[in-house]
Amino acid sequence: MAMSRRRQIYEGKAKVLFEGPEPGTIVQYFKDDASAFNNKKRGTITGKGVLNNRISEFLMLRLAEIGIPTHFVRRLNMREQLVREVEIIRIAVVVRNLAAGDFAKRLGIEEGKLLPRSIIEYYLKKDELADPLVTEEHITAFGWASTHDLDEMVQTALRVNDFLNGLFLGIGIRLVDFKLEFGRLYTDDDMRIVVADEISPDNCRLWDARTNEKMDKDRFRQDLGRVEEAYQEVARRLGILPDGGPADMRGPRTMQ
Ligand code: C5P
Repeated sequence: MAMSRRRQIYEGKAKVLFEGPEPGTIVQYFKDDASAFNNKKRGTITGKGVLNNRISEFLMLRLAEIGIPTHFVRRLNMREQLVREVEIIRIAVVVRNLAAGDFAKRLGIEEGKLLPRSIIEYYLKKDELADPLVTEEHITAFGWASTHDLDEMVQTALRVNDFLNGLFLGIGIRLVDFKLEFGRLYTDDDMRIVVADEISPDNCRLWDARTNEKMDKDRFRQDLGRVEEAYQEVARRLGILPDGGPADMRGPRTMQ
């Protein structure tokens, strides 16, 4: 396999990063592994890597088209995509439109309640601490990101939210909430903040607009069953199911 020639840089819960073919590039390999609740629950979602590779490619390309910079360069094959090497900002940005998940629990709000406006939250990416919720004060005081970086991240997150809301509604899906990660992309004498990581049902809550059926990783988190089918249905509605259909999505489960 071509990828075995590449030097592995990092292995995360859902992806492996390899050195890219040119300096300043990285190959993201999408695994079928799934984890939840800070790695306490683990499993496999067959075909997830293939689908998330496609879904994230599709969404990152649409964002680029409306002028939102991302790390995405191009998809290489079923499970790999080429991205620009960025310095990951250790703050995850969550945008919420409806109450769900941790937010609904923490604030005692019924799941599915429409929020008075979109709400942004920041989480410190730190596994040992299970990614705690932090405020702008924490972020700027400790220098995890500057006020300028944060402004840019918030503006971008809100634009992504507006755009994805429309895109998903058009295919009968409600964007309940999602998580974005950002990176600093250095060019000759410049630095830009770009959307990094992935945008997929692993980090978005997507509900069928008509039935409110969950079409995202909550099916895995909450043992709702039909997890693979949900990811496939999102890809199908986006018009990007792999050519061979679900049969094409099995692929190696283990890495060298
Ligand atoms: O669990 P919580 O309600 O905070 O999740 C908000 C959103 O962020 C969900 O769409 C979830 O999929 C995403 N998320 C994530 N990675 C985490 C925690 C949450 O992608 N570590």
